[in-house]
Amino acid sequence: MPKIVKADAANIRKAASIIRDGGVVAFPTETVYGLGCDTFNERAALEVYRIKRRPSSNPLIAHVLDIPMAKRVVIGWDVRCQKLAEAFWPGPLTLVLPRRAEVAPSSIGGRSTVAVRSPSHQVARQLLEATGSPISAPSANRTGRISPTKAEHVVEEFSDEPDLMVLEGGTSHVGLESTVLDLSRARPMVLRPGAITKDMLSPIVGEVADPLFAGQGSSPGTSSRHYAPRTRTEMVDTANIERRLQSCPDPVVVLASRAEIVPPPHVAIVMPSEAKEYAAKLYESLRQADSLDRNLILIERPANKGGVWEAVHDRLRRASA
Ligand code: AMP
Ligand code: MG
Repeated sequence: MPKIVKADAANIRKAASIIRDGGVVAFPTETVYGLGCDTFNERAALEVYRIKRRPSSNPLIAHVLDIPMAKRVVIGWDVRCQKLAEAFWPGPLTLVLPRRAEVAPSSIGGRSTVAVRSPSHQVARQLLEATGSPISAPSANRTGRISPTKAEHVVEEFSDEPDLMVLEGGTSHVGLESTVLDLSRARPMVLRPGAITKDMLSPIVGEVADPLFAGQGSSPGTSSRHYAPRTRTEMVDTANIERRLQSCPDPVVVLASRAEIVPPPHVAIVMPSEAKEYAAKLYESLRQADSLDRNLILIERPANKGGVWEAVHDRLRRASA
């Protein structure tokens, strides 16, 4: 089993030295937990892909402390980048830009661009500070599975990696992966919706092209089935829940707005009505639903009122694909 350790000064120093020596450490961010390695170390990046069983074409995000560190990873840091970073960093916004030659090619699927983000979680920041250089990290889950929002989730994912160190950082309060904004093309495009919405970005970068949903060649990690429980998962409209449950021979789990609409022996996991709270609770709820070991998870489709709901619906679509 991986070891969860308290993120005190000694363990942060230890984690930083593991990364500097080409190793891999799991650490908390405000979005989800990450599996981090030295951005400039080819072999370390390959180790992340091995542990995660990630296809080599799916690029990692380089995490940085601040703008000067970002400039060690990307080229073409312009006025737009400066304004975006000043508005949203540290925070859940990832920028895709042309890469510097020093970035390990295997960490970015051999691309000419690299994604960069400055996390706000204090443990991630202390780790970056102690390491003194960028840390590339995907979410700390096996490919295709639900992203981890607690240290215990990382342990569940990598139970066969006894040497993996997991820095404890509580619950990731955003709970969904960062917004990925591609600035390497003519018109900025959101490749993955997140807590920073298009409406928040367009005052700075002008019109933002819509995210692509299916077969997104430009952002391989956003494939149609992702963030998925092991149990078959289905979306259902509120009006159809009663009928759908009547047709289930065995008890199922429902992520629902209210417990009353889920009669026993079916089990309800009640979801918040506000987008941010829903997002923060989603992955943990899917894990909980999965662990109940029923043969179906139903998710009551929340209304899509725009904003952060776009990101929630994006993840729900993939979880149930
Ligand atoms: P993860 O860290 O597991 O949430 O995955 C990071 C995601 O960011 C990837 O799956 C891609 O979708 C996206 N991404 C990272 N780097 C790039 C890049 N250079 N170009 C386009 N998308 C990227
Ligand atoms: Mg991921």
